[in-house]
Amino acid sequence: MKKKILITPKSFFRAKDKADEIFSQYDLEIVENNTGKTLTKQQMLELCSDVDGVIVGLDPMDKEVLRNARKLKAISKYGVGLDNIDLNVAQELGIKVRRAEGANTRSVAELAIGLFFALSRNIPKAVINVKDGRWDRAIGTEIGAKIVGIIGFGAIGREVAKMASGLDMEIMAYDPYFNDIELIKAMNVKMTSIDEILEKADFITLHLPLNEETNKIINSKTLSKMKQTAYLVNTARGELVDEDALYNALKNGIIAGAAQDVFSHEPPDKQNKLLALDNFILTPHIGAYTKEATERMVATSAKNLIEMLF
Ligand code: NAD
Repeated sequence: MKKKILITPKSFFRAKDKADEIFSQYDLEIVENNTGKTLTKQQMLELCSDVDGVIVGLDPMDKEVLRNARKLKAISKYGVGLDNIDLNVAQELGIKVRRAEGANTRSVAELAIGLFFALSRNIPKAVINVKDGRWDRAIGTEIGAKIVGIIGFGAIGREVAKMASGLDMEIMAYDPYFNDIELIKAMNVKMTSIDEILEKADFITLHLPLNEETNKIINSKTLSKMKQTAYLVNTARGELVDEDALYNALKNGIIAGAAQDVFSHEPPDKQNKLLALDNFILTPHIGAYTKEATERMVATSAKNLIEMLF
């Protein structure tokens, strides 16, 4: 029987041929997001109302969208963060949800490490200075032999640990749900408390999901425990960090610098105070936006949707 599906992620269409190979064997009517933007709640309410399945990016799938989607049987996440989907309501309505596990792990980890270098050597500012005719040099710090504190030791956190170990960094991690003792030993990682990470790490990098427990896990209290020379890198979700508290910490020298790939509102408002700070750098949610990760996310999310629907 023919199934109607909606595909929302903008970058999906860059590697759509990877999905066509999978979709060609099934009777599908495909609705594509051609707006070039993440869909609004109103658009999701309308577009999801008569579909059997969705491949979704960051577009909102809250309780109203789900309850209004009367035929919906399956949501295939194009990526790994499920915070835009009301999982309780999906479960209540019997809607299956799967994520593209591992598809973007390496890309996000590489960006996190890239941001370590960008912060520690002031690369963005140095580039702007020279282009503006200023031969200014701000002194940097080395990464080797420094401590990296990884909060969230899942797929991406572990990939960061692997890369950081190659850079000769000492690795600490906090993850209350990770207990693979053999792997921890093999990776030479010290699993510890969040407090020890805050107090000792030179680079703190966030790789945990956004949920009620983790919302604003980095706030004025946690920032005040960090070293004045420490850097914070957030490639996970904007809401994990209290942005007002981060602004105060950066402005008042409580920490040395921060980099974010993600914001609570994307794109951030031009008036966002963080944007004016020299010790704050940002990228436009490009963690998973590589050719390789895109191809893997398209293939995995297409395969997951088909497996859930047929
Ligand atoms: P994952 O599920 O493999 O790992 C998440 C880890 O966080 C798990 O090990 C879990 O036990 C741990 N965790 C849960 N609650 C925690 C808590 N309170 N404190 C510490 N650890 C906790 O997911 P992943 O593939 O590593 O992705 C991590 C996050 O990165 C995703 O949830 C997503 O929000 C974000 N992400 C961002 C981008 C991007 O484009 N910037 C791309 C992919 C993923």
